[in-house]
Amino acid sequence: MDALWSQALALLQEQLAPQLYDAWIKPLRPAPGGDGSRLLLLAPSTFALDRVQSRFRNDIEQAVVALAGDGVKIAFQVDGNPARPESAPATVTTSREEEPPPLPRDRDKQETGLDPRYTFESFVVGGCNQFVHAAAARVAELPAKAYNPLFIHGGVGLGKTHIMQAIGNRLQQTRPELKILYISSEKFMLQLINSLRFQRVFDFKENFRSVDILLVDDIQFIAGKKATQEEFFHTFNALFEANKQIVLTSDSFPNEIEHLEERLRSRLRMGLVADMQPPELETRVAILKKKAAMEGLDLQDDVAFFLAEAIHSNVRDLIGALIRVSAYASLTRQPVTMGLVRTSMREMTRQPERQEPLSIERIQETVATFYRVQMADLHSTTRARAISRPRQIAMFLCKQFTAHSYPEIGRQFGGKDHTTVLYAVEKIEEEKMRNPQLAQELDTLSGQLRKNT
Ligand code: ADP
Ligand code: MG
Repeated sequence: MDALWSQALALLQEQLAPQLYDAWIKPLRPAPGGDGSRLLLLAPSTFALDRVQSRFRNDIEQAVVALAGDGVKIAFQVDGNPARPESAPATVTTSREEEPPPLPRDRDKQETGLDPRYTFESFVVGGCNQFVHAAAARVAELPAKAYNPLFIHGGVGLGKTHIMQAIGNRLQQTRPELKILYISSEKFMLQLINSLRFQRVFDFKENFRSVDILLVDDIQFIAGKKATQEEFFHTFNALFEANKQIVLTSDSFPNEIEHLEERLRSRLRMGLVADMQPPELETRVAILKKKAAMEGLDLQDDVAFFLAEAIHSNVRDLIGALIRVSAYASLTRQPVTMGLVRTSMREMTRQPERQEPLSIERIQETVATFYRVQMADLHSTTRARAISRPRQIAMFLCKQFTAHSYPEIGRQFGGKDHTTVLYAVEKIEEEKMRNPQLAQELDTLSGQLRKNT
């Protein structure tokens, strides 16, 4: 039981905020003995016992199920206080009532995870990203021979994901025989956890070790996640030794990612480290024009400059502004003029660029009001579409607008499993591409959320 508990601890540490983990989970200790079908956890005080049972029982059960299947019963008790016969510790079963996790999905079919829109052709090169662009183009030309790994870092919304996927998309065309895989480090972690849960670690390892080109986005996310780092380290080594190309992105330089094991850090620095800067004015204008041309929008120079001057630190926001302006113009059947742009931009430019982050609760309230459901519905497990749909949309928006992880979002939706959230996000993401009605609703909700921060 000690071994099982120490593995469970590693999983829990990945899923919980460090202060919660340190305060409540770490002090627990498995009672010695036992027959392998029961895990008795000892808490240091009655207060801790209460707290653990009310707040963390689900997480603990899930971790144990992930590792040992659902044959193990978990019980809690205060340490040093042997159970009196009349107050036998509450035994909880490990069955969970919630929407069944739709994962693991069929990963056998050639799924690259790439978005076909992120290409070199649609990427605008300027002084800010020239170096990264050149490095990426070279990697796409000579995978595993030019720079390995290629480590791209830079602030949010500057085009890291775009340029990384451009490598994948280019190679998919020029070298169709190669197996390419794009994944965020967060999904890497969730797949690892799932593989533990469904006892499929072997498949997990096989899947990653059989690729020729591995693109891992936002690697900073695995900081402090011990088991994930360990697995990633081995994947990295296996691929590197087999002479496969690895590309990584991060919001910071390898040395600045905190809580990263030194041996992994030094691996990440081994190849070429290239950074991306915020775009200069001319590049911002060029990005707007390219985007407008791609979308068939008529964009006047004065409007392009106005937008590019108003939004300078983030390409994603810049493109978002263009889309908002053109949506506004087409809804009100007006041409995109400076007057119209000023009106539709007023709120955006008036606000400081760094805003209070939106809370999950705020998003839930906005969605509940919009779809006329109760907050309690969003926390419930009701599967009726009138409720489950807004719930999925709220989960999707939480992922878009906050930095919370899938497990964290799940917890704030009445203790749902992270796979439920992952499924919701992917479902909505995929459906909004082909369902204009949904896309419209999401736009409206996003607009409200931006205004409300
Ligand atoms: P990051 O991964 O750095 O947060 P993304 O790659 O997601 O940023 O970029 C955000 C948005 O901006 C995407 O829609 C992307 O296509 C666009 N973008 C960023 N840089 C450029 C560029 N140089 N040329 C064209 N589009 C860009
Ligand atoms: Mg990105």
